[in-house]
Amino acid sequence: MPSWIKRLKKRVKNIARDGDDSGGGGGGPVVIPRPEHTISRADISENALKVLYRLKNAGYQAHLVGGGVRDLLLGREPKDFDVATDASPEEVKQVFRNCRLIGRRFRLAHVHFGREIIEVATFRGADRSGDRSAENGMLVRDNVWGTLEEDAQRRDFTVNALYYNIEDFSLIDYHGGMEDLRNGVLRLLGDPETRYREDPVRMLRAVRFAAKLGFRIDPACEAPLFGSAALLRSVPAARLFDEVLKLFMGGTGVQAFEKLRHYGLFGELFPQTEETLARQDHEFPITFVVRGLHNTDLRIREGKPVTPAFLFAVLLWEPVRLRANELIAQGEAPVPAMQQAGSEVIGEQLQRVSIPRRYSLPMREIWGLQHRFEQRNGRRPQRLLGHPRFRAAYDFLLLRAEAGEADGELASWWTDFQQAEAGEQSRMAEPVVRRRPRRRRRRRPRKPAASDG
Ligand code: ATP
Ligand code: MG
Repeated sequence: MPSWIKRLKKRVKNIARDGDDSGGGGGGPVVIPRPEHTISRADISENALKVLYRLKNAGYQAHLVGGGVRDLLLGREPKDFDVATDASPEEVKQVFRNCRLIGRRFRLAHVHFGREIIEVATFRGADRSGDRSAENGMLVRDNVWGTLEEDAQRRDFTVNALYYNIEDFSLIDYHGGMEDLRNGVLRLLGDPETRYREDPVRMLRAVRFAAKLGFRIDPACEAPLFGSAALLRSVPAARLFDEVLKLFMGGTGVQAFEKLRHYGLFGELFPQTEETLARQDHEFPITFVVRGLHNTDLRIREGKPVTPAFLFAVLLWEPVRLRANELIAQGEAPVPAMQQAGSEVIGEQLQRVSIPRRYSLPMREIWGLQHRFEQRNGRRPQRLLGHPRFRAAYDFLLLRAEAGEADGELASWWTDFQQAEAGEQSRMAEPVVRRRPRRRRRRRPRKPAASDG
């Protein structure tokens, strides 16, 4: 058994006995030397390596941390690479020309390499004073710098607090992250309730990692998830938009959705949708959402493009559909009813999760085109086929049909129609039906041609 495993076991035993996980007193962190772990430089992005080496050569500490380390240890491909250093953001900026400082709450350096961004964070400190402030227990600013050990303490989960040190390629583990990684456990550092209150987005992160990695949430961290959804209200809507995309556009959206509902968190993000799901009198609202998310998951796994517009159109469809039906029952025509329903539902949704206009406009188009699928006469189908949003709207119609909310015959007619050749398409289209039959004009008797005499 490698020596670090023995030390780790001893550490875990001590924590279980004393509840002491300060990292101090017990002889510092567990350090796993290069030959005893599986992270190889060949698996780390070239740009991340460049950043690590350049910081090191400038005399700073530099570690890979977070999802990059976690995912590599699990044999998965990391989404991105995060770097932690003892250089301040300004010092990082001096090392890299291609560097931008971002954030006010959490100041960070972004080092740009074309499309790839390496996020460089200065070690966060444990000090209570300085540029850190909280409102009702929620951290609204956290720019106190510290040591590696303090930084480890301020991370969210033990499996996210593992450091790969570029100095000697060792792994540094202060909090038993390796053990939790092996057991598939998500465990927050510190007191779970305090950590959720400090930053309620950690609740969503717990759900996301559980869904993505198939890990279970440690019972002490799981219990406070129930009944804490209201904490999310203090999180800015723009940040929740980013989190929603990560939850539903990471390839495991269905699992994320089910877990969010299980912990009562979904209703805080999408209250109108939750209401329709809670009082549904048919199966299709939930079937529709789950199928939509499943579709997105499949597309992501197949490397096909996905757009937040389609995702949000799916998530908000049931409230929009019900509201449009209400308006129609009040005498509104279908097209304006759908437009108004869309505006109302989006307006309400923006209170919780922001949706940039570049997505809300195509969403409304997807909704608005749904009733046009029913018009199959004359040149109308061909015109709809040429609409820039046709493909998304058609995929949406298929989902509705699969969920049993739209007519299956209609959906397959459109499938056939697209594949048919032009001549066949004209035959498929229904004859033009005119509401008012054209009245025959009575021929007036021709005036005799005037003669100029
Ligand atoms: P992925 O990039 O795969 O989504 P990640 O764990 O890398 O997962 P990031 O959002 O990239 O997530 O954050 C990088 C690291 O920063 C995390 O692993 C964690 O150590 C720390 N971190 C991020 N968000 C928080 C938070 N809200 N509270 C505490 N630590 C956080
Ligand atoms: Mg990351």
